[in-house]
Amino acid sequence: MIRSPRLRLAIPNKGRLAEPAVELLRDAGFAFDPHDRRLVAHVENLDIDVLFVRAVDIVEFLSDGVADLGVTGLDLLAERGSPLRTLRPLDFGHCRLSVAVPDESPYRAVADLAGLRSATAHPNVTRRYFEDLGLDVEVIPLSGAVEVAPRLGLAESIVDLVSTGSTLAMNGLRPIASVLESEAALVAGPASEQRPDEVATVDQMLGAVLEGRRSKYVMMNAPADRLPELRSLLPALASPSVIPLAEDGMIAIHSVVGARDVWQLLPRLKAGGASGILVLPIEKIVG
Ligand code: AMP
Repeated sequence: MIRSPRLRLAIPNKGRLAEPAVELLRDAGFAFDPHDRRLVAHVENLDIDVLFVRAVDIVEFLSDGVADLGVTGLDLLAERGSPLRTLRPLDFGHCRLSVAVPDESPYRAVADLAGLRSATAHPNVTRRYFEDLGLDVEVIPLSGAVEVAPRLGLAESIVDLVSTGSTLAMNGLRPIASVLESEAALVAGPASEQRPDEVATVDQMLGAVLEGRRSKYVMMNAPADRLPELRSLLPALASPSVIPLAEDGMIAIHSVVGARDVWQLLPRLKAGGASGILVLPIEKIVG
């Protein structure tokens, strides 16, 4: 394998993971044309090429050393059973691989499926799952449209990815067990070991965006004597900035808070004497 002079990062070219992967790279500051979906996009401001390939093929590209890093689903990694290094989960593409059966079927638990058939696009994970439970279930591998298998009489159950559950419901199926939880992840192949510094840079760039997305910057004004009360409401880890205002006895308090906590925090800050509260998005947090 000829070593490419530039780090190669493989991302999905279509499907559910494609848009969020491009958005993450753009937010991290990768300058490339994501609409130019040729196989390779040249990143102008970094020594990186982005390869657009099918999500299912990314593990192969990494294992073969064609790409150094990749963005793909943890379910796909598990299915290939390959010993690639997961550098970090990326907080999109959340789903669960679930065992589901037709609504009207008598099966309530996976143990009820012994001696029957299960259709799936994840045959390896599914075989391992039933084997580990000591259940003899015949696995029927399919490459798509798994949810129609019971209706066609191909299998009594399916093992398929579920996010909202609406596809299952639409097909008259109900989940009875969870096989694994998945989300998109940054994954490193063996070729990346020759470029530890560049890999660390990409990992940090993406990590800084993810940390920023999980947080909000909150600014407020308050009477100086309410500081102890307001401080007790703000996260202990991030010591807030306290800035005196032109108006005597008034201060501004700035702090980073968890994006999920903001809505329940705002009324408490107001009750604690805060006014003119601003909530701002954070582009990146570099720890
Ligand atoms: P694609 O088939 O190209 O849309 O990508 C499939 C990948 O998207 C899966 O392997 C999962 O990692 C991820 N994914 C997230 N939610 C779902 C879902 N509800 N159904 C299928 N795949 C999902």
